[in-house]
Amino acid sequence: MGTSVLVLGAGFGGLELSSRLASELGDQVDITLIDRNDSFVFGFTKLEVMFGRRSPASVRHAYRDITHRNVRFRQETITAIDPEARSVTTDAGTYEANILVVALGATYDLAATPGLAEAGHEFYSVPGVERLRDVISAFSAGTAVVGVCGMPYACPPAPSEAALLLDETLRDRGVRDAVTIKVVIPLPRPVGPSKEASAEVMARFAERGIEFIPERRVAALDPATREAVLDDGSRHAFDLLLGVPVHVVPAVVAASGLAENGWIPVDRSTLATRFPGVYAVGDVTSVGTAKAGVFAESAARVVADGIIARIRGTAAPAVFDGTGSCWIELGRGQVGRVDVDFFTTPGAPIGAFVEPSADTFAEKAGFSSSRRARWFGLERPGS
Ligand SMILES: Cc1cc2nc3c(=O)[nH]c(=O)nc-3n(C[C@H](O)[C@H](O)[C@H](O)COP(=O)(O)OP(=O)(O)OC[C@H]3O[C@@H](n4cnc5c(N)ncnc54)[C@H](O)[C@@H]3O)c2cc1C
Repeated sequence: MGTSVLVLGAGFGGLELSSRLASELGDQVDITLIDRNDSFVFGFTKLEVMFGRRSPASVRHAYRDITHRNVRFRQETITAIDPEARSVTTDAGTYEANILVVALGATYDLAATPGLAEAGHEFYSVPGVERLRDVISAFSAGTAVVGVCGMPYACPPAPSEAALLLDETLRDRGVRDAVTIKVVIPLPRPVGPSKEASAEVMARFAERGIEFIPERRVAALDPATREAVLDDGSRHAFDLLLGVPVHVVPAVVAASGLAENGWIPVDRSTLATRFPGVYAVGDVTSVGTAKAGVFAESAARVVADGIIARIRGTAAPAVFDGTGSCWIELGRGQVGRVDVDFFTTPGAPIGAFVEPSADTFAEKAGFSSSRRARWFGLERPGS
């Protein structure tokens, strides 16, 4: 019997880890991958659903399609994690393993922003964007506020992308002149690490008449007056509020004792937690990168390579270097790229911007098709 690896969460981190171990180690490893959902959705395709460009069904990638024969997928809800014993309880049973990897991502605390659930909409979950699809297609006049409710939040450029795509949709429908769009972000610029990418986004905002309110977060919504209350007390009337909710670790992680100050601390190089044989990757950690799929997956690769090296008795692999590339939708089919390095200059990430081109557009499409092939072992045209 091979080394047993229990992977909690089948998002970017869990899928990358499981598929890499499975393809490299074959029967030397026994992998159980647990997620409460039946399918994976790439974050950026949520925006496509929200703006009616893709159907909700077309962006779901069913876990039953995972073809790696040594990955056992279980659709179960994790209810307890004991990191000392490396034992996990779900709604269907208990599991123990030689190695435990926590890749449970971040979840959303709507209640942390009074009024958000009542008077606003969030666009970070699949049900949220499914609801917004109808709301946005019927929205034709008034003020739309795209607002972030707390730090840290996943994919920092996503609110700016949402504002640019909202602008595009409204223009296509001939109602843009009747709508004011504001973007509220608790960062000094739209793409934190990159001044050039931020300048590009800001130029598009200016061109399209989108008002940018930096270094502020939406603290509450007043359902009676339909105003967004920012953290400086200023109030902004809205007819449509697209919110990025406060991010937190899933309740099961909070209860496990793994998290400190909100997130799971890990060794920055190896993603090891303070519990022997327990690793954590992705949005659930405080590793020091932005919360984004590309970093969850590169962290997962480092953990996988460490396990592979240990089993094969080879030299320790490369450490997690905090670099990665993110693509940014600028509207009208234009996609730029930011190459970010979070660790070389601690506390001051560097981001180089690559202008939109046919190449960057193709790269973004290639990003998801390569993951589908790697994680699920299949290709679906147009997905
Ligand atoms: C609108 C939007 C656009 C984005 N665009 C990009 C982008 O262009 N590029 C990029 O790199 N990133 C992007 N992101 C961010 C990206 O989606 C996340 O950073 C990434 O998914 C994090 O990966 P992860 O593996 O840490 O967690 P996740 O992908 O969130 O996976 C965690 C998994 O754990 C499961 N889970 C949680 N709790 C339990 C439980 N108790 N029991 C069982 N299962 C559980 C969840 O169902 C989930 O499948 C975007 C996000 C959004 C919302």
